[in-house]
Amino acid sequence: MKKLKELIETYQDFPNKGIEFKDVLGIIQEPRIFRELILEMSSSQIIKNAEAIISIDARGFIFGSAIALQASKPMIVARKPGKLPGNLIEKDYKLEYGKNSLSVQKKALQKYNSYAIVDDLLATGGTVNCVFNLLESNHKKVVGLLVVIELKKLAGRLKFKFPVESSISL
Ligand code: AMP
Repeated sequence: MKKLKELIETYQDFPNKGIEFKDVLGIIQEPRIFRELILEMSSSQIIKNAEAIISIDARGFIFGSAIALQASKPMIVARKPGKLPGNLIEKDYKLEYGKNSLSVQKKALQKYNSYAIVDDLLATGGTVNCVFNLLESNHKKVVGLLVVIELKKLAGRLKFKFPVESSISL
């Protein structure tokens, strides 16, 4: 998908100095390309083999919910602090400087046993690893990870034993 790559805009030093930010939002301004991408991601064996999708705050929701609709799979969300109501299960993870955490609603997580993780971009893999740890410590199976973009030189996929699929490798 050559055209897909052209829709990714790069912003230098955002949100911090030294970061080359890859913006996926141009994809959803091109419905034909967005649709092609969603059809491709939805037909992945990772999605077929999972009982449900778990998508990551916030850009992961864009792709996760479209895949969920196309593949007729339920979706739950992993959110940053202060965003979800109800009883939550939370996991901390380390960032380059400091730490963050992701939460899921306990009731939603309990409904399904196996998950496909969906996010917009895989960089170091710290965020996905947090979701993996959260699922594993609650006895849930991770079938695999689907991302739109993978930053190859950061080698995030080497952190994982489950399959990883990306539509664009940069
Ligand atoms: P990581 O935990 O390092 O794999 O970072 C992945 C998460 O941070 C994803 O949810 C991305 O949305 C975001 N992210 C990290 N690096 C970038 C980047 N260079 N451009 C855009 N988003 C990024």
